Amino acid sequence: MKKFIIFLFLTLMLLHSGCALNVIRNGKICIVPAIGDKALAPEKFAADEFNRTLQKMANSIPQEKSKPSSRLVIGTPATNPEIAEKAEELGLQREELKKRDSFILKTIGADIYAASNYPSGAMFAVFDLMERLGIRWFFPSEAGEFVPQTANLSIDKLNIISAPDFEFRVLGAHYKHDKYVFLQHCKLTAPSPDPKKYGHDGFYKNWGGHSFNWFFPPDCKTVEEYFKKYPEQFAWDKRNKTPVISQHCYSNPDTKKTFLDWIDNFWTKNPDYNSLALVPRDSPVSCQCEGCLKLDPSTLTHKFIAGLIRESEKKHPGKMYQTLAYSFYTTPPQCELPQNQIFSYCMINCCYKHKIDDPICVRNPKHIEELAAWQKKLQCVGSYGYEFIAFKDNSIYTPITPVIASELRQYKKMGLVRFATENYQHFNPSEPWEEQSSFVNRYPIYATTRLSWNTSIEPESILRDFCKYSYGSASSEMEEYHKLMEDAWQKGDAQLCGYNKNYKNYADGFITAELIEKIDRLFSTALEKTKNEARANKFIVLDQKAWQNWRNIGQRYLELHTRLDTGSAPLEELRKRPAESILYKPDLNLPEFKDFADLKEKEDKFPNVEEPPLMLPHPQMEEGCMVGSVIENGEAYQFISVRTKESIFLFKNPEILFKNSFEQCNYEISFRFRFPENSGKNPWFDTSLRHAGLRLAQKFIDNIITINTHYVTIKTRSRDREPSPTALPEKLTAKILPPLEKGKWYPVRIRAVDKWIFVEINGKEIATYGPIFGGGYANLFSPNTEIRDFIIKEIK
Ligand SMILES: [Zn+2]
Ligand SMILES: [Zn+2]
Repeated sequence: MKKFIIFLFLTLMLLHSGCALNVIRNGKICIVPAIGDKALAPEKFAADEFNRTLQKMANSIPQEKSKPSSRLVIGTPATNPEIAEKAEELGLQREELKKRDSFILKTIGADIYAASNYPSGAMFAVFDLMERLGIRWFFPSEAGEFVPQTANLSIDKLNIISAPDFEFRVLGAHYKHDKYVFLQHCKLTAPSPDPKKYGHDGFYKNWGGHSFNWFFPPDCKTVEEYFKKYPEQFAWDKRNKTPVISQHCYSNPDTKKTFLDWIDNFWTKNPDYNSLALVPRDSPVSCQCEGCLKLDPSTLTHKFIAGLIRESEKKHPGKMYQTLAYSFYTTPPQCELPQNQIFSYCMINCCYKHKIDDPICVRNPKHIEELAAWQKKLQCVGSYGYEFIAFKDNSIYTPITPVIASELRQYKKMGLVRFATENYQHFNPSEPWEEQSSFVNRYPIYATTRLSWNTSIEPESILRDFCKYSYGSASSEMEEYHKLMEDAWQKGDAQLCGYNKNYKNYADGFITAELIEKIDRLFSTALEKTKNEARANKFIVLDQKAWQNWRNIGQRYLELHTRLDTGSAPLEELRKRPAESILYKPDLNLPEFKDFADLKEKEDKFPNVEEPPLMLPHPQMEEGCMVGSVIENGEAYQFISVRTKESIFLFKNPEILFKNSFEQCNYEISFRFRFPENSGKNPWFDTSLRHAGLRLAQKFIDNIITINTHYVTIKTRSRDREPSPTALPEKLTAKILPPLEKGKWYPVRIRAVDKWIFVEINGKEIATYGPIFGGGYANLFSPNTEIRDFIIKEIK
């Protein structure tokens, strides 16, 4: 009996779905959108998009006399009387349809209803239907739109309820028409794609990013003017006894008043905005005035913002605010916070190489822990990431989809309300496509938009669909290419955090000989297969260019490895290989800038200092100064830092000095030092060489060479105290030198040649060790020693 019922049920279902509705019949469009009199911008936009793409699909000019047999009824109960009438039948009172942007797509009679309680939801219902009809949007502009052409198309009876996993889904973008159209097609939270034509209403509008850049008193128009007129409302630099423009003073009641007046004025003038951002200026400086120093920087900042919200609520109740946990204010503060506002925790410490739950990753657990700590304090927590700006170079493909999928699933499990990631590269079809991240990374970006709506989709199914549309006959080869890249990407224990990194330092261990061989073969087959498919072939040619960026740098690493494995030149030859071009030669003498105040006055004397110093509060530091080059992900920064009891003042010059990072070049550091006559009992200084990348980014080994009047010590330190991948013992040597005299100058040469390190003091070789793979930084730390003639030269 049961079997019979099931059978009957299935038969009915089949009969039911048999009532397919014609969309295009013999080249004629059979369905027209119907919006209500009170339709808002998203509904109007969706109706226009539906018409436009359907015409493209049917390849027809609308025929005025032909009467379409069906309608696509778009709207909300408030904007379209037809939706209001059918609200109950559509189930719009259901809990899941109360969520922002959720929608129902339902066939009733000869019509399809694209309905929601939100105008944006009704629009998303239309775009969802268009995807079901076979349309895809993979990147901005019509170049990224895929509309299959057909003379006959029908669709089965629909009854689909869909609600996003995150209330806010943001791929940050400055206004650009095509970009915003794309974001709406992909069901993201974004403002109106065409405010002139459709207006704003119904789209989500937030004002500002680092909005404190633009909060002024009524008599000021720029932050410079504000700073000049009211310096006491800006952060205090305690050491220099001067206010600085880069941040505000949050304990000054006048600052609060300025901000409150500005917010009051904002809501009075812009009642239609959904939310206002309250985010400090993008600088690591926190005020050091007495009032502000009473609190830790995170509490100081969040307490100030919470106060602004609380006060503003009195005049403008029910308004929404967005703020960030970022920079020096990422830790949960020791104060009450207003609930129901949107706080986003910035993923500064999250790693993009590994899935969020991959046990190999040392960073992600801490990231999740801090995020959870925020959730204990607040109801609405979001995450703000940098996945698509991890690399500075826009032509670099980041095969990151499985990693993002794991992140999104974790965030959904934790109940986050917002997923945002920075992605502001525009797509301009008239510029080389392979140089634009919107194109190069179109697959992971597209997949992210799918997954941020529905975290339970298998990324593999998105990839298969993407390849089917994009690559024609070569879809299986290209699917394999993307999969190989995604798998290889996650291997190894290198970490990728923050943003704007140089991809070249991430190729080692990722791009293997086997991968090169496989992928090269896939591309040549794919190109051959698509010889006669212009669009697919073009995409493959361009994707191959993106692959070649990784391939070429990977090849260099592989050659370097081979050179090391097969044994490089004999040590004797390496020892003597001459140092040639100068990479870095600072024009300074250390003791001259022991006092920070002096240093500031003499700033012009330092040709390499271009940026104002950063102040990093660091109470435990010993006083001293340091000079050197930081090689951060392939880019060299000269830095001069002065440590005082309270702060480190870091002068940093972002100019690129080195063509290649130390990862790929041999170098010699030389200088002279002198222990002053009046120096204490054990004068010393140290120099650090760091191999294999930056402390926070990659595995590294730090070699600290300490020179004292009586001995030299070379210690190695690996990150997380892991066993060193090289044969270097923990403490290499402590060779006794003839005692060094105070007041006398001694030369030092430290050479890194084909990954061997030679340390020479006063013409005598003290240590030789290696091979060490990788590069890093070189710096000197000298609390009581004079150092002159510091030079870094390249050894070919
Ligand atoms: Zn202050
Ligand atoms: Zn990791």
